[in-house]
Amino acid sequence: MDKEKQKEYNKKWYEENKEKHKEYYQANKERKKEYREENKERIKEKQKEWYEENKEKQREYKKKYREENKEKIKQKNKEWNEKNKEKQKEWHKKWYEENKETEKQKDKEYREANKERINEKQKEWNKTENGKKSGAIRRWKYQGLTDTDLDYIYDLYKNTTNCWVCNHDFSKYCKCMDHNHETGDFRQILCKKCNCHDNWKNYSEIV
Ligand SMILES: [Zn+2]
Repeated sequence: MDKEKQKEYNKKWYEENKEKHKEYYQANKERKKEYREENKERIKEKQKEWYEENKEKQREYKKKYREENKEKIKQKNKEWNEKNKEKQKEWHKKWYEENKETEKQKDKEYREANKERINEKQKEWNKTENGKKSGAIRRWKYQGLTDTDLDYIYDLYKNTTNCWVCNHDFSKYCKCMDHNHETGDFRQILCKKCNCHDNWKNYSEIV
């Protein structure tokens, strides 16, 4: 029998015995499942053994695959991330909720162990433009400023060279951000003298 005829024959046989085949497959599937259930531990053990024996090979193989398919993997990951953005957010949130305490502890330990390095970094950061800005904003918030346009206020603060009330030069006098303590709104940029005990109110032309 030639190849084509054999193929034809196989196909016909399969069509005729489809149901039987299905039954057999189903039964086999059940049997396999049972076997797996019964030998769960043994299979696990075997898998572990195999994994241990082939660890290096597997690692090599994976590494090679990753190197050869760099772009493809990157693309796939990107696609996957796009598709699962919301889900990932959910997972991350859930994971964090579940691991909050251990994470906090880990963070604390890390900070303890790297105190010097972190302090050094913080000092460096505080000297940068962004560091100065975030430091000032943090201070203002702590003092009770609730204004939302903090970028604008900081720009104003940075570029103001003289006290808005007495015109003292800030290169000689300390610069302060003055805000309404009741509403939390930004009010003005003052020298320390004017800001102290709301001295600026004594300047009649401004009140
Ligand atoms: Zn002043």
